[in-house]
Order: sequence, then structure tokens, then C-alpha cells
Amino acid sequence: MSEMARPLLINISMLFSVLFLWNMVMPFTRASSINLKEKIIYGVISSLMALLCMLFPLEKFGDTVFDLRVVPLILVTLYGGKLPGLICMITISVTRTWMGGENAWVGVLIAIVGFLIAIGFMNYFQRSIRKWKGIIFTGILFIISYIAIILIFLEPLKTYFYPIYFTSFAIAYFIIFYLTERLVLINIQLQETVYLEKLSVAGKMAAAIAHEIRNPLTTVKGLLQFISADTADTKVQNYAPLMLEEIERTNKIITDYLMLIKPSKSDCEQVDLNKIVRDTVALTEVLASYYAVKIQYDEKGEFHIWGNSQELKQCLINVIKNAIESIEGEGLIHVALQYGTKRGTVDIVIRDNGAGMSKEELEKIGLPFYTTKSKGTGLGTMITNRLIRNIGGRVNYTSLLGEGTTVTITLPTTKQ
Ligand code: ADP
Ligand code: MG
Repeated sequence: MSEMARPLLINISMLFSVLFLWNMVMPFTRASSINLKEKIIYGVISSLMALLCMLFPLEKFGDTVFDLRVVPLILVTLYGGKLPGLICMITISVTRTWMGGENAWVGVLIAIVGFLIAIGFMNYFQRSIRKWKGIIFTGILFIISYIAIILIFLEPLKTYFYPIYFTSFAIAYFIIFYLTERLVLINIQLQETVYLEKLSVAGKMAAAIAHEIRNPLTTVKGLLQFISADTADTKVQNYAPLMLEEIERTNKIITDYLMLIKPSKSDCEQVDLNKIVRDTVALTEVLASYYAVKIQYDEKGEFHIWGNSQELKQCLINVIKNAIESIEGEGLIHVALQYGTKRGTVDIVIRDNGAGMSKEELEKIGLPFYTTKSKGTGLGTMITNRLIRNIGGRVNYTSLLGEGTTVTITLPTTKQ
């Protein structure tokens, strides 16, 4: 009995050390946008974890081996998806077959069952906010299947074995998932802090510059008005209004920008989000049709939120404009309003089938002045982020290069 404690500890500490190293090299996030290369690396690392487990089995009866190899398999499938899971599953199966023995196929069967169960829960797990349910369901279903397979296909084992092995298995399983989940949360918080920090430095600088430009601009405007007031020069008469207009526009850009830097004190009220989205879609459809892009809006009932309708429209226009601009040739933008994954929230989902972004580009999005367009300002996403955060919301980007981008704006709803 106690002879199982040693290999168990070895197994768990091996799994932990690989997990931490892994997180150090490739910080875990909730990215639904793990690219192909990363998926393969995920598959290889989890295979390595499984192999390490197989090297130190908890128990051996004849040629039947009991260890924790399925824990990394389920872990990588739930977090990373089908491909890494498949790589890990194949590694386990091949190694187990190579190790030989007449019960090798049972080991292969257990790996396949573990993989399939994890695949079954994968979508639910990745979508839900509370990851615990997915983790517990997968774990319990797997352990039941595992016991059933042993009972059906193997010679009866000593009864004391079951509680000890499966308790150890369950403990390792939950600790690994708990740690992974903690690491993901810590990474997300860190990213958030870094983003806010960058935002605040760049924002302050820009605010200072904007302020400095405004003063001379006011002087120019005043002088221009003065000169053009009673002049006989037709050129001045003709062009002064145009110049004043341009100065006014510059001033407005600066004012808007300064407003963003300052914590906003805009008037909020209860607004019907459905109406706002509908209006904005109608508004942007004109621009879209110019680019041969279609916008499709799915209405799913009414949602009321606390916010400023003008600012909300501005945010949506920014996002939809980016979507339109990302599409070359014909394209489709899908806008949907739906219940958020967390209770009491609503998601505005804007999905395009445009150029998409690489992981590196995705990291830069939302930073002031980051743009890939020749006439871009790189302010749109930052303004959107800022305004949405002001009313307690969040903007989330997922994107795959060449496939398109999905922007999810999550907002807290109010009771009517
Ligand atoms: P701008 O539109 O002026 O470039 P934004 O802040 O609106 O500034 O966007 C910043 C950058 O983010 C864009 O230049 C583009 O590279 C990228 N981007 C934003 N939305 C999308 C999208 N839907 N698809 C692809 N790239 C996008
Ligand atoms: Mg833009």
C-alpha cells in the first residue's frame, strides 16, 4: 500500500515540474487562438509528461501497468484541443504497444477512451466560465470507464487496489487542473496589467502632446477669423472657411482624444442594446456595401444595459469598420447579440471572415497608435476598449490568420 506513495509522489512532482516549465516557456492563456505550431508543441510536451509517468508506474500487476499517463492526455485535450490530444494519445498507444505484454491493448483502449471523453467535454469546457464542472465531469466519467474496462477485460485485482489507485489518480488529476487553472488566471491578470500600464504611459504622453497642439491652434483660428472678417482678397474669402473647418476638425480630434485619456464622465442611462446594434448595423451597411461586404445581424431578444448610446454606437462602428477593412473582396460580417457565458451579461459578437491576425499582431491590438493600415490611426480599438471598460464591460479578440477575427464585447445587463 505505502509502496504506491513513492511513485505517486514522483509522478505528481514530475507532472508539476513539466507543467511549470511549460508555462514559463509558453504562458498558458485561454487563447482559443492557439496556432498550429503551438498545438503541435502542446502535443509533444504532454506526450513527454505521459512518457515520464509511464517510466514510473504506480503499480504493476504482471504486465498490466497503472500510472498517471492519462492525466496529461486529458489536460492537453481540454485546454489545447483535438490535435495535441491526438498526438499525446498516439504517443501513449504506440509506447504501450511497444512495451508489449498481452494486456497492452487494454492500455491503448484506456488512452483512447480518455481522449474521446475529453473531446466530448472539450467544447463545453472551453466555453464555460466556471471550468470546474467540465473538469469534474470529465474526471468522473473517465474514472468510471476506467474501472469498467478493468473489471471487464482484466483478471480480478486485489480489492484494496481500487480505492488506493483511483484516489491517487483523482488527487493528481485535480491538483494538476487546479494548478493549470491558477496559472492561466495569473497569466491573464499579468497581461491585463501590462496592457493597462502601456496604455497609461502612451496615453499620458499623447495627452500632453495633444494639449500642446491645441493652444497654437486656437491662436491660428482666431487670427484667421480676424483676417478673413473684412478682407477684399478673394482667395482669403474663398479659402478661409475651408481652413477654419479643418482647424475645427483637428480640434475635435484632439478633444475626443483628451476625453478618452480622462476618466469619462459621460451621461449613462438604461439603453436598449438591441436597438443600438440594429441602428449601427444599418449605419455601417452603407460603408460595407461599398466594399462588397455583407453584414448579417441575428436578433435574439431585448437586452438592457447601463451606458451611453452615442459611445456604444461609436464602439460598434469602430469594430465593424475594422472588420470591413480586414476583408479583401467579398465578405460576410456576422453580428449577434446573445446571453453572455456569465450570468447577467450580454455578448455582442462581431465575426468577420477577413484577413485575421497572427498571435503577435493580436497581442498589439488595443495599444495606442498600433495600426497596419496606411491611413489608420491605431486609436479605434483603444477607444473602444476604454469606453467599454468604463461601463464595466470587456472586449475580447480571437483571430486566426487567413480565417478571420471574432470580437466579443461583454457587458453587464440591467434588470428592466
Ligand atoms: P486602425 O483601424 O486605424 O488601424 P484600430 O485601433 O481600429 O486602428 O486597429 C488597429 C489594428 O488592428 C488594425 O490596423 C488592424 O491591423 C488590426 N485589426 C483590428 N480589427 C481587425 C480585424 N477585424 N481583422 C484584422 N485585423 C484587425
Ligand atoms: Mg479602426
